[in-house]
Amino acid sequence: MWLNRLMWTAYQAYHLRGQCQIPFKSLDAIKRTQARRVQSMVSHAYRTVPYYRETMDRLNLIPSDFLCAEDLAKLPLLERDQLQRDPEYFVSTAEPLNRYLMLRSGGSTGTPCTVYHDTAALFQNAAHGERERSIIATLVGRSLGYRETVIGARLSTAQEVQELCLKRAFFPPGIRIRRQYLYLLDPPEKIIPQLNEFQPDVIHSTFGSYLEILFPFLYNTGGPFHRPKVITFSSTGLSDSVRRLISQTFGIPVLSTYQAVEAFKIGFECRKGLGLHLNIDLYPVRIININGETVCAGESGDVVVSNLVNRATVLLNYRLGDIACMQQDPCPCGRSLPLLSFPQGRSDDLIHLASGQIVHPQFVRLIFTNEDEIWQYQIVQESTTHFRVAVVAAKSCNCPETRGRLLAKFASIFGLDTKVDISFIDFIDRTAGKFRTVISMYQRSQ
Ligand SMILES: [Zn+2]
Repeated sequence: MWLNRLMWTAYQAYHLRGQCQIPFKSLDAIKRTQARRVQSMVSHAYRTVPYYRETMDRLNLIPSDFLCAEDLAKLPLLERDQLQRDPEYFVSTAEPLNRYLMLRSGGSTGTPCTVYHDTAALFQNAAHGERERSIIATLVGRSLGYRETVIGARLSTAQEVQELCLKRAFFPPGIRIRRQYLYLLDPPEKIIPQLNEFQPDVIHSTFGSYLEILFPFLYNTGGPFHRPKVITFSSTGLSDSVRRLISQTFGIPVLSTYQAVEAFKIGFECRKGLGLHLNIDLYPVRIININGETVCAGESGDVVVSNLVNRATVLLNYRLGDIACMQQDPCPCGRSLPLLSFPQGRSDDLIHLASGQIVHPQFVRLIFTNEDEIWQYQIVQESTTHFRVAVVAAKSCNCPETRGRLLAKFASIFGLDTKVDISFIDFIDRTAGKFRTVISMYQRSQ
């Protein structure tokens, strides 16, 4: 047991070396590492994962057909509901199931599924986190032993992973990050005293939408609040207005990360704020159109990721359910890792127009993009010509004027015949499974 812990400690230390520099290496060097990982993961998948063995045999593919990340598109697109229906079909038989850490994905997606992770992947992930932690550490002013509050589900993924790592390796006090875990369904009145007592350097919210509850509450009540040096959140669910409230009014830098239970460290934001740097050596990403074809940089589409780290549940060419586009220009921060635009919505319904046309929910979200005094909103489409909109606004908001502006924007997009009921309310129920901004009752009744 003791020897085992020593081994994992050494393993993590080995993978930690040079992590901060990898984003700055040349793109060619990063792609060479990526290609090596692709070859190794495809061989592993073919040897030990029933889904890949059967699929590749059926398509007359062998591991040597996969030399670089682009070759992963030869595999069929893997959908979340396939994983949901039969999780074990995608798990490697290299180790017995009970040796893996089982994690559930769900939350914003509305389609929970099970993903197994092997211990080596968890320690590697902890090391890969150094790429984004080095940016956080600069803001905090120290790289070791700072305090972080994680606001997430009752037993969050981060907590499960950290507990397992603590059990299996040595982390001397003073080196490891001290963490406090708070529950995102608790109201701000309960969360704030705990934050004030713990005095975190960093607050990480696993759902950006919780920050939409917390910061408007702090702003409106003006009570005592320990200000962290940086706030991080998982990439979706924070409105532009609340992001500005945090960074400009509260003066706290905000950084997003791109992570999923299916792929832990897809990308991270640097201080330039132009998008997410993709860890393509670990999680190659491509963007596809409606026909499944890879699109050019600048064109938005579905995000498809391959996980080259986790050897338990192997996910290659997997549709995450986010919409984003690759950025054309390199980031001025000097990192070579390519930039992805901030992903849009995982779970929102599509909007049906009276003409029969279907539009992406981002279409209606744009109505709210520049509304600085709207903290939260939810749009329910009752029929092709009827919307109900619930709005949570700042105290200072001039409601009749805002209502007039919103109605005019709706009319310009959906036509004058469209009925829009706007109500200003105190808060939107974001309890489990309801992290939706756009809900189409029309789509659900079809
Ligand atoms: Zn950058």
